[in-house]
Amino acid sequence: MKSIQFQSGKLLSELSTFGIGGPARSFIEINEVEELCAVITLAYQQKLPYIVIGKGSNCLFDDKGFDGLVILNKISFMRHEEAEVYVGAGYSFSLLGTQTARKGYSGLEFASGIPATVGGAIYMNAGANGAETADVLIGVEYVSEEGDLLFLKREEIEFSYRTSSFQKKKGAIAAGKFCLKFADDARQKQLAIIAYRTQTQPYGDKSVGCVFRNPVNISAGTLIEQCGLKGKRIGGAEVSLVHANFIVNKDRATAKDVLELAEFVRNTVKEKTTVELEMEVRAIPYVSS
Ligand SMILES: Cc1cc2nc3c(=O)[nH]c(=O)nc-3n(C[C@H](O)[C@H](O)[C@H](O)COP(=O)(O)OP(=O)(O)OC[C@H]3O[C@@H](n4cnc5c(N)ncnc54)[C@H](O)[C@@H]3O)c2cc1C
Repeated sequence: MKSIQFQSGKLLSELSTFGIGGPARSFIEINEVEELCAVITLAYQQKLPYIVIGKGSNCLFDDKGFDGLVILNKISFMRHEEAEVYVGAGYSFSLLGTQTARKGYSGLEFASGIPATVGGAIYMNAGANGAETADVLIGVEYVSEEGDLLFLKREEIEFSYRTSSFQKKKGAIAAGKFCLKFADDARQKQLAIIAYRTQTQPYGDKSVGCVFRNPVNISAGTLIEQCGLKGKRIGGAEVSLVHANFIVNKDRATAKDVLELAEFVRNTVKEKTTVELEMEVRAIPYVSS
């Protein structure tokens, strides 16, 4: 294994689909599971604060950056044997959804078009169209806080709407195992999902997807739209005209612009409808707790 070398000053705006974020104190890109174990072990021994990221499609980085180590997960192998898929956490989740559907396997069609890695999708329990990542997951290879590689079965992990028990743990997701089902209409379903996405979401703009979790029985986007907030702008950040639950980086937006706009949206929706919206996007502070 090559020696561990950190880069300093990597701009986080380059690692987030929002295009926002200052420099990371240290940065490393990981391509192999054993490298990930070695880096987490080192971080544990040296008490280095760190964050593991995938495509940064749900991360709002701080304008000052991150005062610690950013580990970019690019572990991207993929083994597909009949209905079972074993895949590195850095593999594209969207590609996985498209490839498996093309082969006639159902269960991950919804992933097509979600600009995530497999690790980020497991961590967030990403979902769409009534399906979510945990539905077809059999287990996860996980690097513990101390740097040991463990296999966690699906039953050992808690999942709920856009939440997993990984959000309360230190360590890193290294790979996932999924079990799919053969279905004649998988490809057709996946193509319909991607077509609908591109019509209803602002794919041409920089964003991190839906900003707020959907409250029970209503979509956050509908509430925000009903409050007349589409197009509301603070600095370079704007409530998307295409989908009201997206904030888009229209013109060199800062994290401060986005947070102020999100707060304005939350307050307006609370005032007009009494519903309290909760953030889905992960705002990563400069100093980690
Ligand atoms: C255009 C667009 C459309 C979207 N549509 C959807 C949608 O339909 N459904 C949906 O659920 N989401 C959607 N999202 C949001 C986003 O894609 C998901 O939340 C996704 O799961 C994030 O994956 P990521 O790899 O980019 O994770 P990142 O944004 O890099 O990280 C998100 C969180 O996961 C943690 N994390 C990432 N990888 C690991 C790992 N290997 N080990 C431990 N922790 C890790 C990070 O520390 C961070 O806290 C959309 C985003 C965009 C921009």
